[in-house]
Amino acid sequence: MIHSKLPNLGVTIFTKMSQLALETGAINLSQGFPDYDGPQALREAVVRHVMAGHNQYAPMAGLPALREQIAHKVTALYGRTVDAQNEITVTPGATQALFCAIQAIVREGDEVIVFDPCYDAYEPSVELAGGRCVHVPLTLPGFRIDWERLQAALSVRTRAIVLNTPHNPSGAIISHEELDQLASLIRDRDIYLISDEVYEHLVFDGRSHVSVLSHEELYARAFVVSSFGKTYHVTGWKTGYAIAPPALSTELRKVHQYVSFCSVTPLQWALADFMAAHPEHVTELPAFYQSKRDLFCDLMSSSRFDFTRTAGTYFQLADYSAIRDDLSDVEMVEWLTREHGVAAIPISVFYQQLPQGLRLVRFCFAKREETLRRAAEKLCAI
Ligand code: GLN
Repeated sequence: MIHSKLPNLGVTIFTKMSQLALETGAINLSQGFPDYDGPQALREAVVRHVMAGHNQYAPMAGLPALREQIAHKVTALYGRTVDAQNEITVTPGATQALFCAIQAIVREGDEVIVFDPCYDAYEPSVELAGGRCVHVPLTLPGFRIDWERLQAALSVRTRAIVLNTPHNPSGAIISHEELDQLASLIRDRDIYLISDEVYEHLVFDGRSHVSVLSHEELYARAFVVSSFGKTYHVTGWKTGYAIAPPALSTELRKVHQYVSFCSVTPLQWALADFMAAHPEHVTELPAFYQSKRDLFCDLMSSSRFDFTRTAGTYFQLADYSAIRDDLSDVEMVEWLTREHGVAAIPISVFYQQLPQGLRLVRFCFAKREETLRRAAEKLCAI
């Protein structure tokens, strides 16, 4: 008998729903990934670097050229000067950056505050470190921080707070004022911040992403995590990074160097080349995804799903109460996939305790126009 360290975990909802979509031939709007490729110049750069012999270990903290590009971007977008040498670590995916940050700071008996609905990767990592997640639900319908509940959740054992903005699955975006409020709440406490900002470039309607990197006081105690997978339409490259003040980066690297040691070399070269040659890629991304969001939402306006256009990410939540209020969201996505040929993600998997009566499913609109049209046609017919 194996005495599991994670007895309550099976495979993730993303694996389950993508598998079900594959088995049933349904259009897959569940797991978040594009059904189009990254830029051709970026893909060609990988080939070039593989053929040029860039195939051995990269430096542990990341290729210097790529870290320089990340530092440039951070200065241009968030007004912060970060030291590429000591504050940026390239990791195999944002998931690993999050894991390393958590392992670096969480000890046996520590508590980590997460906001529900909460991305699934944080809690297992906290548990493996011997800690425990304290779940604080975001307020509805806007998915904002409930300051009273957050304050009540703080304890002497609180070691860290995990933020996610833009937020998966709701698309909510944190404001400067909210970061200020957070800063004043934890000012006199020994609490770190882990800020998952993988959707940093997916913000719509003229809004701006408010990065923890732009907040002097919070950055001093933060790990800010992002992912090239989302930004360059290459989720399968599993390349991301963490930015943290030097002392925190040192601790994160102690873990990273024994989880993977370094990230994939030719991918880092290609990303560095592409970022240098195409700085406009990230500034054009909001418009690119906003038009996908608007296409999907316009098409869905004649459906019986109820929704408010998402402010960020490539996910759209939709309320299905008018269609099947007899089904839980897990039953609903199964029914949608099997009976109507469109796979989605149930929001309950992101909650410790689903709020009474919440009936939401998440659709990913990082899809070609043709895919969105076919999916919407099926969803509008229900
Ligand atoms: N982040 C992706 C999503 O929310 C899933 C990534 C994964 O499958 N682990 O859909």
